[in-house]
Amino acid sequence: MLQQEYQVLVIGGGINGTGVAREAASQGYSTLLVEKNDFGHATSGNSSKLVHGGIRYLENYDFKLVHESLKERRVLLRTAPHLVHPLRFNIPVYEGDKRPAWMVQTGCKLYDLFAGRKNLKHSCRLDKKAASALTVLRQEGLSAILQYSDAQTDDSRLCLATALTAELYGADVHNYMAVTQIHPQGDHYQVTLHDHRTRQEHSVRCKYLVNAAGPWVPGLDTMLPHTKVHPALKYVRGIHFVVPKMFDHQGFLIMPADGRIVFVLPWKDNFTLIGTTESEYTGSQFDVIPPSQEEISYLLDVTSHYFPASNIAQKDILHIYSGVRCLVSHGESNMTTMSREYGIVEEQQNADSGYLAVFGGKLTSYRSLGEKVVKRIRASLVPQGPRNHHTETDLILGAGQVPEGIAASWKKRLAAVGLDKTWVQKWQSRYGSQWLEVARYILDQEGGEQEIIPGLCRGELSYMHTEEKAVSLEDIIVRRTKLVYTASDEEKEILIRELEKF
Ligand SMILES: Cc1cc2nc3c(=O)[nH]c(=O)nc-3n(C[C@H](O)[C@H](O)[C@H](O)COP(=O)(O)OP(=O)(O)OC[C@H]3O[C@@H](n4cnc5c(N)ncnc54)[C@H](O)[C@@H]3O)c2cc1C
Repeated sequence: MLQQEYQVLVIGGGINGTGVAREAASQGYSTLLVEKNDFGHATSGNSSKLVHGGIRYLENYDFKLVHESLKERRVLLRTAPHLVHPLRFNIPVYEGDKRPAWMVQTGCKLYDLFAGRKNLKHSCRLDKKAASALTVLRQEGLSAILQYSDAQTDDSRLCLATALTAELYGADVHNYMAVTQIHPQGDHYQVTLHDHRTRQEHSVRCKYLVNAAGPWVPGLDTMLPHTKVHPALKYVRGIHFVVPKMFDHQGFLIMPADGRIVFVLPWKDNFTLIGTTESEYTGSQFDVIPPSQEEISYLLDVTSHYFPASNIAQKDILHIYSGVRCLVSHGESNMTTMSREYGIVEEQQNADSGYLAVFGGKLTSYRSLGEKVVKRIRASLVPQGPRNHHTETDLILGAGQVPEGIAASWKKRLAAVGLDKTWVQKWQSRYGSQWLEVARYILDQEGGEQEIIPGLCRGELSYMHTEEKAVSLEDIIVRRTKLVYTASDEEKEILIRELEKF
């Protein structure tokens, strides 16, 4: 249901839009968040999945960005522990590398300093014995291995959980609803929305309009008559792929001779995630970003060079994805050295209404970006309701604890219908404490326990459809589960048929 009027309307259900909506709702603003596709389907669900300060940005002297991101890393580890996990990284240094061991070690120490004392385990240089135990790595010419800590997340689930938390705080939250027209009118904006599910048009009013449409920000911008000059932007494409598990537990930051950085990361128990490339994207459509064969081959070459025993080839790739970020350009020619700092451009319309556009940024820093956006709104618009939540400390949906007694009794009921603790563990890693709701859907629905495809019960599908707003096959297998890595064509067909029944 839509109201006729909101104080804040946020366009874009990527991490920045969902973060702004959560922040605005937490502070008592009547808020509407609209996403034209699914939450996190664009840049935010196609990232390297790191919640990190960005150790590599230190060499660009991006100290403010690193410091802010490391603070936000701590916030996310505390408020979304079911979705953000610490990860230990190895940086192997080889004879003749552009960045010698002393330089990498200095970077790691600086990173520790920015992270502060109450943060993850500090960096260290592995001694010879520990270094030679990492046999997965190429040993020839290996001169040192530095270790440091960061965190890994499920980016699309983080995005979804943020949107659903905004909803819990009172925001109206809709995916598959696009902004198609914006008309400034006196002291408000009249906005036309198209609901892709019902094919209906709606018209709503708002005082503040926040354009968090990622790569589409400039396109939406043109719907408004502007006087201000927006920052120059460059679009950078990055690709990743997923292969069967190459090793356990630890991540690798690889520094190939061309000066780029490649991550080789453990992913979801049974997989390894490899990426990212960075190249300028000059295309004008952002819905589907095609990966290039050149980039795929580059990542395969880097992987086989540094992990000679891995034998990873194109046939092993289970899933490839690519994303485009827009970065604020200061005339740089090298994509790697462009700042990941976000930009906020504001245009006041009236004493208590205006337009804010968000550019660039990182997944990691989305909460503080949301705080800054809402601080600007607060300077001229008083919230309708009280401030009931604080995003810095309040848990994201799914981060709570299920009391032991309750968990035990539900596990018993699930076991009685043939769903043992391995199912519960899987749901816990996907939904956090919301696994209890999934269990409710399974047990309350006739046949809810039926496994419709391996690893997915009918009740869980109902939960994702009803509570998590999943509509399409992709919503289910790419963003809410990672069944895309394993599902056969036949299983996908079964899922499509099941979804049609809703
Ligand atoms: C390859 C790559 C790897 C990255 N890795 C990391 C990482 O590991 N860690 C990190 O911290 N950051 C990382 N980043 C950066 C991070 O992913 C981005 O900064 C962030 O996702 C941007 O989020 P966003 O919400 O601004 O944009 P998006 O996620 O693109 O969201 C914008 C949304 O707006 C919607 N939209 C557009 N037009 C309309 C309309 N008319 N109506 C309604 N909705 C609309 C779109 O459908 C889209 O979902 C990476 C970026 C890239 C490209």
